[in-house]
Amino acid sequence: MRRLEGKVALITGAGRGIGRSIAETFAREGAITYALSRAAKEDFPAGINYRQLEVADENGWKKIVAEVISAHGKIDVLVNNAGIISYDGIEEMTLETWNHIVGVNQTGVWLGMREVMPHMKKVKQGSIINVSSIWGNAAVSGAHAYHATKGAVRNMSKAAAISHAADNVRINSLHPGFILTPLTEAQDPDVNAWVVSRTPLGRAGTGQEVANCALFLASDESSFMTGSELVVDGGYLAQ
Ligand code: NAP
Repeated sequence: MRRLEGKVALITGAGRGIGRSIAETFAREGAITYALSRAAKEDFPAGINYRQLEVADENGWKKIVAEVISAHGKIDVLVNNAGIISYDGIEEMTLETWNHIVGVNQTGVWLGMREVMPHMKKVKQGSIINVSSIWGNAAVSGAHAYHATKGAVRNMSKAAAISHAADNVRINSLHPGFILTPLTEAQDPDVNAWVVSRTPLGRAGTGQEVANCALFLASDESSFMTGSELVVDGGYLAQ
């Protein structure tokens, strides 16, 4: 028996990187998988339903949730994974950039939870995984808006978990450390080398290693976990 057999799962920011690894893993494990992302994509593997979704777009959420409910009658798993970063300093950042980062990383997570919640509550079953970061728990210089939103995701997940425990909707946050993806490949190599040098396991993680954790949280194996934070960081936060 595959670990997500028959479950219906939505993953945001699944066009590439960690989200794509999660979508491919969930599909392999038997989930009816909807990979949602911003850009149009032609190259998605058969067996995964790819749809465009800008996570800060309220109407986009309503449309995709209606489509999935109409096709399958339920949503078992939501992974709020889409996220963006900016290294603009406190003095340089424009209000527009700040609002954009908060809109995607924080408002997008809340909108996703809001739109799937009635369907999960109705059947008293659901797992929501909100992708935060080690930067939701600890800080470094230079990415204050990212830290603000990832910290918000961490604590919003706990509040949502407590609010919906009686509905048997489990909400946990996932906290990757340094993972090799298009996001980190585009960063300053010195910044990347600095984070790896402070990672006790001495290397970057892979999207698959994060996807393995998301798989556990999505599956019934984690049935007694809610409001928790699962860290996958090569030991970074243990220091
Ligand atoms: P990535 O390689 O940049 O991929 C992000 C994906 O999200 C892309 O497919 C992108 O779409 C999509 N996306 C961006 N903005 C979106 C929006 N407004 N609406 C819908 N989709 C959107 O990033 P990643 O490294 O895989 O990161 C995934 C998540 O993990 C993020 O939340 C990030 O903060 C978190 N994280 C990453 C690391 C790391 O080291 N990589 C560490 C900790 C946490 P397009 O393909 O259209 O651009």
